[in-house]
Amino acid sequence: MAEDLLIVKNLKKYYPITGGVFGKEVGVVKAVDDVSFTVKRGETLGLVGESGCGKSTTGRSLMRLIEPTAGEVVFDGTNITSLKPEEMRKMRRDMQIVFQDPFASLNPRHNVEKILEEPLIVHGIGDAAERKQRVSEMLEVVGLSSYHAQRYPHQFSGGQRQRIGIARALMLNPKLIVADEPVSALDVSIQSQVLNLMQDLQKNLSLTYLFIAHDLSVVRHISDRVGVMYLGRIVELTTSEQLYQNPLHPYTKALLSAVPTPDPDAKRERIILQGDLPSPANPPSGCTFHTRCPHVTDECRSVRPQFRDVGSGHFVACHLYNA
Ligand code: ADP
Ligand code: MG
Repeated sequence: MAEDLLIVKNLKKYYPITGGVFGKEVGVVKAVDDVSFTVKRGETLGLVGESGCGKSTTGRSLMRLIEPTAGEVVFDGTNITSLKPEEMRKMRRDMQIVFQDPFASLNPRHNVEKILEEPLIVHGIGDAAERKQRVSEMLEVVGLSSYHAQRYPHQFSGGQRQRIGIARALMLNPKLIVADEPVSALDVSIQSQVLNLMQDLQKNLSLTYLFIAHDLSVVRHISDRVGVMYLGRIVELTTSEQLYQNPLHPYTKALLSAVPTPDPDAKRERIILQGDLPSPANPPSGCTFHTRCPHVTDECRSVRPQFRDVGSGHFVACHLYNA
């Protein structure tokens, strides 16, 4: 068994921008622009970055919930990029997604039993009694009770609804969970409960997570490694510890400087980025961060820095580290 459960190579997702009465293509939004990373079995890879940097598009296009424009995705030893729809449907049993907003992603007209048994029906698993049994089991697994099966989404709190979203993702015993900001919509007091649940589930069910968040403090504790995205690209990727102790990319440093630290002596200098986030429809040349970078040089304006390993798996795309 290969060590990597997921290998993403040069993934791109471009959305055409159309205009005029004839709907001619007048440009493209580079939502994901050449992203590569791997996720080991049992690992949690965090993906962070500001809103609009391409995190959700990365998560969805690697599962082919939306079709990538280019790139290759190898999941559990199979190149899934070229699978036919029926083969892809079967493969998706093993790769599930948990969404940010559990209310929007749960059908309000269906009770929990119906919501949770749907994946089983779609994949033709079990008879009615077995499905009911599995629903009860999964409710217990996520910290709810079997009597909740007859209730509707609006009868739950936000945290409980996200537990239902997680239960639904687990119904088919997947290997990989793409968790797309699973706690961002929840009260801070509830966030850690759901994060703890996800960590327990990972241990008990040998799950692998791609954990998406816009907040560095949320991914820190749950992730083994973290990738930082900016304008459709990963600019830095390393272990959580390295990222927080020794961030290399100027963008990562700026993000971290905004995270409050519990230790007042370890006060970091707050780095305020110049300018606004550019549009992915018109990204800056060279290094896309150059318009906001305190260390910008001429090279940064014209040459795209390679995303390379600068030592023991610490990847960074920045000319400062091109020794
Ligand atoms: P994030 O999850 O990091 O907030 P997204 O992946 O949702 O970012 O979006 C990345 C970029 O792609 C954004 O600029 C967004 O506006 C654009 N985008 C996302 N979906 C579409 C779409 N269906 N059509 C056009 N542009 C899109
Ligand atoms: Mg998103």
